[in-house]
Amino acid sequence: MIVSVNPYTGEEIARFPEHSEAEVDAALARAAQAQRTWRTTSFAERAQLVTAIGRVLRSRKAAFGQLITAEMGKPIAEAEAEVEKCALNCDFYAGHAAAFLEDDVIATNATDSRVVFGPLGVVLAVMPWNYPFWQYFRFAAPAFMAGNGAVLKHANNVPQCANAIADIVAEAGAPAGLHQTLLIPSSKVERLIFDDRIAAVTLTGSTEVGAIVAAQAGKALKKQVLELGGSDPFIVLADADVAAAAEVAVKARFINVGQSCVNAKRFIVEDAVADAFVDAFCANVAKLKIGDPMEPGTNIGPMARADLRATLHDQVQRSVAAGATLRAGGAFVGGPGFVYAPTILDHVTPEMAAFNEETFGPAAAIIRVPSPEAAIARANDTEFGLGAALWSRDTQKAAAYARQIDAGAVFINGMVASDPRLPFGGIKRSGYGRELGSYGIREFTNAKTVWTG
Ligand code: NDP
Repeated sequence: MIVSVNPYTGEEIARFPEHSEAEVDAALARAAQAQRTWRTTSFAERAQLVTAIGRVLRSRKAAFGQLITAEMGKPIAEAEAEVEKCALNCDFYAGHAAAFLEDDVIATNATDSRVVFGPLGVVLAVMPWNYPFWQYFRFAAPAFMAGNGAVLKHANNVPQCANAIADIVAEAGAPAGLHQTLLIPSSKVERLIFDDRIAAVTLTGSTEVGAIVAAQAGKALKKQVLELGGSDPFIVLADADVAAAAEVAVKARFINVGQSCVNAKRFIVEDAVADAFVDAFCANVAKLKIGDPMEPGTNIGPMARADLRATLHDQVQRSVAAGATLRAGGAFVGGPGFVYAPTILDHVTPEMAAFNEETFGPAAAIIRVPSPEAAIARANDTEFGLGAALWSRDTQKAAAYARQIDAGAVFINGMVASDPRLPFGGIKRSGYGRELGSYGIREFTNAKTVWTG
């Protein structure tokens, strides 16, 4: 059984039987068949479907938002914004895919030589619960526009979202089979990766699971894109607008109740402005409204699962035991759900859990450093390399520092966030490959050279 639990009430809200081997097999056969036809469609036909998916998403934004919040607990306003962003991504790729995948004509001694971008086939998407709609549609909109099909294995705590996604794609008019949602345990993923009807794999999730799936996909020689964990630095240099940084820092760390791969997790602050930054940050965090995520004004609802809260609390406690100063939070919030008080740890050092492990929840680590050079060194002193933010009034200097930061993205005087127009992904143990933008759509294509003598 796959069970859906409301993380604010702790109550079970739905349960579904797992798909049988025969059902999985039939789903793969349908997907493969649908994709064989889909790959012959024009960009205009594909755009019609992807635009329609966006329309369906928008038409029931409130209902889908409630579903997301009920299953994984994010504040309702953020859940609705997630649905809207999925629709925006659909519009973006419907409008731009043809240009992104235009033939690349390359002059040689041939009469004509060019690269054409064809689809790979059916892509297996192993997706997490933290943005249950966005993680999927971020991948699927470009995948469909490129002529691919999709099989979704969603996280097992969001089965209703997984089913809703199938309904949305069907309602938009997709050919039967082009998208398939499978309700299966993670132990069944390996068999899918080795199935001939799966051409490639995309996974968003933990680094540990990424390594397992990468090994399997490697053995099966299947293309993969991995978007894994992060421990993003948020660097505040002495010449930064400290008040602005301390305001944006709150959203950067606490959006999605801190459960995003690109949340700022390590706040690396130059000594000269550290007290001012920490005081302002603490004052802003104190204003966050904790409570029922279905209430429109709530900023901090429950974490998605009891075990995720327990893991975060353990990281906070180990950091305090190792010498970090607790400036806010550090405790469970009473009630049946999995709420954790917004937490700020000051004087964090590299050997502490809050620095060297991914903290996937509402806990910020402050690291104080004597100079910009020390800030960059600390920022890079991690196994992760997803995003980074850098605050300085001297944007030229900041741009130079940005080149020294080991990450897939650096945002200067802002917070890291995905944007359909810009490529998104990591290096080091944050994964490889890119999603979004013109780079993302090419990941699941065959860049085929066609030479005419
Ligand atoms: P997981 O990495 O375990 O889950 C992500 C997806 O992978 C889910 O669909 C899960 O399915 C699936 N999965 C789990 N184990 C396997 C496996 N052996 N083979 C194939 N697929 C598998 O993340 P968790 O939800 O357990 O979260 C743990 C930590 O991962 C978080 O604390 C955070 O650090 C990180 N994380 C990062 C995310 C990101 O956005 N980069 C998103 C979510 C988590 P199932 O649910 O059935 O286990």
